[in-house]
Parts: sequence; C-alpha cells; structure tokens
Amino acid sequence: MNDDSTDQNRPLHVAIIGAGSAAFAAAIQATKLGAKVSIIEADKRVGGTCVNVGCVPSKILIQAAKIAHETEQTAFPSIQIKSFDLNRSTLAKQIHQRVDELRVAKYENLLEDNPLIELIRGYAKFHNSNELHVELNEGGTLRLSPDKILIATGSRANIPPINGLDETPYWTSTEALFTETTPKSLIVIGASVVALEIAQAFLRLGSFVTLIARTTLLSNEDSAIGELLMATLQTEGMKVLTHSELESVCYINNQFKCTTTTGDELESEQILVATGRQANTHQLNLQAANVDTDHQGRIIVGNDLQTSQENVYAAGDCTQLPQFVYVAAAAGTRAGKNMVGGHAVLDLTTLPTVVFTDPQVATVGLTVKQAQEQGIPVISRKLDLEHVPRALANFNTTGFIQLVANESTEQLIGAQIVADVAGEMIQTAAIAVAQKMTITDLADTLFPYLTQVEGLKLCAQTFSQDVSQLSCCAG
Ligand SMILES: Cc1cc2nc3c(=O)[nH]c(=O)nc-3n(C[C@H](O)[C@H](O)[C@H](O)COP(=O)(O)OP(=O)(O)OC[C@H]3O[C@@H](n4cnc5c(N)ncnc54)[C@H](O)[C@@H]3O)c2cc1C
Repeated sequence: MNDDSTDQNRPLHVAIIGAGSAAFAAAIQATKLGAKVSIIEADKRVGGTCVNVGCVPSKILIQAAKIAHETEQTAFPSIQIKSFDLNRSTLAKQIHQRVDELRVAKYENLLEDNPLIELIRGYAKFHNSNELHVELNEGGTLRLSPDKILIATGSRANIPPINGLDETPYWTSTEALFTETTPKSLIVIGASVVALEIAQAFLRLGSFVTLIARTTLLSNEDSAIGELLMATLQTEGMKVLTHSELESVCYINNQFKCTTTTGDELESEQILVATGRQANTHQLNLQAANVDTDHQGRIIVGNDLQTSQENVYAAGDCTQLPQFVYVAAAAGTRAGKNMVGGHAVLDLTTLPTVVFTDPQVATVGLTVKQAQEQGIPVISRKLDLEHVPRALANFNTTGFIQLVANESTEQLIGAQIVADVAGEMIQTAAIAVAQKMTITDLADTLFPYLTQVEGLKLCAQTFSQDVSQLSCCAG
C-alpha cells in the first residue's frame, strides 16, 4: 500500500507517530492551519499514557487513598469516623470508568469530529527520513511519505537490571493503578514522583509499604523537601530505606524475596518498579532518518521541536523535555504550528511542577542552590505552615513555603512549597515569577484570608519583617 504524495495542490500531509497528548495537541494545531494529519497508534486505545495509565488513574487512586486515610487519622478528634472498608475491585471499576469517559471526551470524540485527522492503527518505523513503514494491526504494511513527521511516541517504565527481576511477576505503575486486590505488603523501588505517589496511596489503602531509594527522596529537589516527605511517610507507617538498591529478587510461594545492596533481606507479596521512564525510541529505526538521540535514547530537539532532521519533529516524553503532560501538550502545539510553517518556541523558563503526595510538593523556577550555581546573588525565606492561618485552622501545619529572590533586584526567581494543596498554590508563584514580580510586589498584593495561598504573601513579607510580629491581618 502507498499513499499518494504526487499532487502539488493537496494540503500539507503531516504524519504523527503516537496518539497521546503531544500527538493530539499537534494534530489539532496542524489541522487548524490547513494540514491533513495521519495519526499512527500501535495501542488499541488512543490517548496515550496520561489518560489511560498515568495522570488520571493515579490521581483517582490518590484521592481514594486520601479519603481512606482521613477516616483513620482525623485532625479533629471531636469527629470519629469508623475505619474504612475497602472494596478494591469496585475502586478499580470506578477508575476504569472515569478513564474511559475522559478518553472518549478528550480524544476519541475529537477524532470523530475532525475530518482532517485520520487514525491509522499500527506500529510505525522509519524507512528513511521521508518514509514511514507502518505494520498495520489488521495485517500488512502501509508505506507513508508525508511532508512532515512528528515523533510523539512517549515513554515506558524503566526496568533496572536487577538479578532475577525479569522472572518475577513484578508490577509497573500500570498494574498497580488497576489492581483489584491490595497486597498485604508492597516493596516500591524508586523515590521520584510516580514511586512516591503510588507508594503513599497503597500505604493508605492498607498495604505495608517498604520504599527503596537509591539516594534520597526527590533527590533533584531542595533536600528539605525530601527530608520532610520522608518523615511524613514514616509517621504514616512506611518503611523507607535510603541509599539502598535492590540487588536480587526471586519469587517463591507467591512471595518476593529480595536482598538489597545494603544487606537488607526483604519479603513482600508484590513489588512495584517505579524507577523513572524511558523514551520509546529504540524500535523506530531513527538512524535511518538521521534523527539524533542522547545516550538515554531521548530525541534531541531545539526549542522549535525540530530534530536533527529538517522535516522531522518530536514532542513529549520521547524527547529530552521534562516528562509532564502539559509540557508534552505545549510542545505538541508548537510542533504542530512549526510543521506547517510557523515559528513557535517552547519556553520552559517558568515550569511549575507538582508531586501529588500528601503533603503535595510543588516547585517553580530556581532553588537557592541552582541560583547560586548560576552566579545569581540570592536571598531566600522559608515560612513554616504553622505561620499560615489556613493551615492552623485546618489543624494541618505539615509543610513550608520557600521563596527565592535575586538579592540585587528583589525579583522572585523561584518557589518551593510543601503543603496539602501545594499544587493549587504554585501557579500563583509561577505567575509572579513569569511576570517578574518583586518580593515587595507579592507582599503588597491582596490575598483572601483564610486561604493557603495567602502563605505566599506572608512568606514574601518575611523578607522585611519578623513573621512572629505580623498580625493575622497584616495587609
Ligand atoms: C503513573 C503516572 C502518573 C503521571 N501523572 C502525571 C501527572 O499527574 N501530571 C503530569 O503532568 N504528568 C503525569 N505523568 C506523565 C504524563 O503521563 C506524560 O508526560 C505524558 O502522558 C506523555 O505524553 P506523550 O504524548 O509524550 O506520550 P504518550 O501519552 O505516552 O503517547 C505515546 C503514544 O505513542 C504510541 N506509540 C509508541 N511507539 C509507537 C510506534 N512506533 N508506532 C505507533 N504508536 C506508537 C504509544 O502506544 C502511546 O499511545 C504521569 C505518568 C505516569 C506513568
């Protein structure tokens, strides 16, 4: 089979490999600008990681676990709630249902409503930089010679080379999110976003969880964040082994038996491997297309999302860009525009991030260390949540707000927040950073009382005043 690429009056033809968030954002943008788009998807479902096996199901699980936790550990002893009774298969069904609804609303319906987008079900590989070969799911090979190609193939769970692991029925996040049973004991390998979010959810739903961290928790962040999170998880009952790695695993009599590099011998009913995500690029035959990758197989793109090959673009988790869905979508939109002759640039200088643990961890801009490394004269303040009226009213003062500013200009250049709703607070800080607000601008802004986000204003005020001297109505 061949597509027709000879008619000069035809619209520009864009082929997109993958049908996830980056792909859809690009397809919508490219068709708005008049292109015809072929999306090629190997999986039986469109939508990719976020809706099917990532952001959406994980946030539902985390919310369910939070409710379970609050029945057992209320901040209000005056209200005693009976302990929870978990029906895991009903929870799994509820997760599946919301995932299916969102996939239909946000992906499948878009395909039906846009006649300029065709979906090809199959696995695409490069034949050369202009030609793709698609092994169709229904059988046969389709050869496509589009004008432009976007690689949006996402990522998969990274599985470290641990002795014996491959012979065991270990979980990745996908199995963990949709399990219909709660293991009595769970070993979680990893200490970054996905590992921590799912580990805490399982702990709260009744598993005894042991977390194994190669170094510390969230080791790329300011060390105070990982320390506070570790203390909180330990208080909730998690066993946390830091500076440790799994050395070998075997599965005997429905039990995982493991040894660690630090000499621990552990047993559990299940293991979750959550040690990062690897770009899906190894089977694309990228060499044939002269598309360069880094040593981890991630596609190298410029801020216009073009690869080393002029007619080939890439966006999302398969690139070196940070692995967040809103980054994938923003990159896809810009790639969609640029493939049709635009000049859009992806600017990640103000990138807010959220880890949906409880407390949540949210950051934007630079930490003190990063600012110092860049030679920026830096000044910072850290406000514990016990100084934030809303946190006091909630009887939940675990966490802090840290603001980082340029000492010479007073301009806000970063914020790190640990708080139950840090994810809702960080966008205010992100806007302040993006708008180049000074600490004084932030301190003088009106914030409603009592909100958690008011803590940003209070923290800004501490650059010039002692927090203990502030009235709760300090305007
Ligand atoms: C458990 C978990 C929780 C997460 N939570 C969040 C969150 O809360 N917030 C957030 O911002 N991000 C979150 N993420 C990250 C987010 O899901 C990803 O960054 C995002 O989905 C990446 O989108 P993408 O378009 O790059 O790739 P994907 O959505 O993965 O899409 C890639 C598609 O390409 C297809 N494909 C691959 N190779 C081929 C081929 N050769 N031919 C045809 N098709 C192919 C795949 O089948 C897939 O459908 C989470 C991830 C996980 C795993």
